[in-house]
Amino acid sequence: MKALEHLKTINRHRALVRKGCFAVGLYWQGLTHDLSKYSPEEFLTGVKYYQGYRSPNVAEREDKGYSSAWLHHKGRNKHHFEYWIDYADCDTVMVPGRMPIRYIVEMFMDRLAASKVYKGKDYTDSSALEYYRKGDISPLLHPRTKKILERLLKMNARYGEEYTFAYIRRCLLRKGKSCCCGGGGCCCGRHCGDDDASRKKETACECGSK
Ligand SMILES: [Zn+2]
Repeated sequence: MKALEHLKTINRHRALVRKGCFAVGLYWQGLTHDLSKYSPEEFLTGVKYYQGYRSPNVAEREDKGYSSAWLHHKGRNKHHFEYWIDYADCDTVMVPGRMPIRYIVEMFMDRLAASKVYKGKDYTDSSALEYYRKGDISPLLHPRTKKILERLLKMNARYGEEYTFAYIRRCLLRKGKSCCCGGGGCCCGRHCGDDDASRKKETACECGSK
């Protein structure tokens, strides 16, 4: 029974991420998100430690002092910032690498979906931001990753998914001139900021490129 429940949790999570990714045009990532969760290394461990109200990785970690399923997962999935931690040039220190924007977006969708699955009816637009603020992962995030992830979480908490997804689609993932938002395209100020002042700015983009 635990196997079936765990499988349902994975499928539900993947369906939510798929919906979010499709909404912003990331079709391949939407289809392939978290596929390694069906591998024996992750699936069987997930079944063993299944609890329903939190990630089995947490339970495995409590039991063994580490989570083998998580270590397997983060090394194979580019939407996790941990995947991008690598040695700096000198080969002696490890640093957060610069994450491509499409994977930052997938990480954001992942966080929304995980909050929805675990919070259930208590989920609100600010749940993912609240979860992010509970921990402190900043030292492990590349400055650009931190800036974009926090902007998306705050924007979603304040203005909801429709607005945030439109910003991702029209600004963050748009190819072309470089923009203040860290994305590939200039959004001309329409979706650049996460506060009312920049929201109202309809003509000028903060980056000054238009
Ligand atoms: Zn994942």
